[in-house]
Amino acid sequence: MHLLLHDGPTAADAPGPRTGGLPLVPADFAWPHCRECESPLQFIAHLPLDHGTAAVFLCDFDPGLCSGWDADSGANRAHLFPHETPLAPGTAPAPDGPAPLPATALHPATHPDDRPEAGRLGGAPDWIQDDETPGCPDCAAPMAFAAALEDDTDLNFGDSGRGYLFTCRPCVRAAFLWQC
Ligand SMILES: [Zn+2]
Ligand SMILES: [Zn+2]
Repeated sequence: MHLLLHDGPTAADAPGPRTGGLPLVPADFAWPHCRECESPLQFIAHLPLDHGTAAVFLCDFDPGLCSGWDADSGANRAHLFPHETPLAPGTAPAPDGPAPLPATALHPATHPDDRPEAGRLGGAPDWIQDDETPGCPDCAAPMAFAAALEDDTDLNFGDSGRGYLFTCRPCVRAAFLWQC
C-alpha cells in the first residue's frame, strides 16, 4: 500500500498520478455523459496502476443531485486502459462540458510527511460506511480495490467523503463509488 500525498500543481496532461487536468485516453474515446442528468462528466483523476491506466469521471452538474456515490448509477465512470493502448490527452466537450479541474500531482509514498494525504494506492479499502465492493460489470466477480481519493477543495465526495476505485484485472474494467 502507498499513500498518495498532495504534491502541488502539475501539467494538465502529466503522466504521473494526479487529480484534475485532462484524461489520457485512446484515440476513439468518447467523453462520458451522466446517465441521470445527461451532462458531460467532470474528469477527476488519472491513476497509473500496475495493470493499466485508470481515468475517473464524476457528475458535478449539480452536486448532490445525481447518484455519483453509486458504482452502478452512471453518474460516474471509471475506465481502465491497458498499458499497450496509446493514450493522448482528451478534451472536454466544450461549451457544455465542465471546465477541467486544476491538475494536482499525487506523490506515492510509503510514509506520511508534511504534505496532505490525498488518497491511497492499493491495500484494503478504508470504508467510511459499509463495505460496498462492486461486482464486475462483465464477469460479476467482486472487483479488487485499487485506490482511494479523499474529498478536498476540488473533489466533492459529500462532506469529508472518500472515493474508491476498483478494477477487474481479467476483464480490464474499473468502477468508482464514494462514501461520506
Ligand atoms: Zn448528473
Ligand atoms: Zn470481470
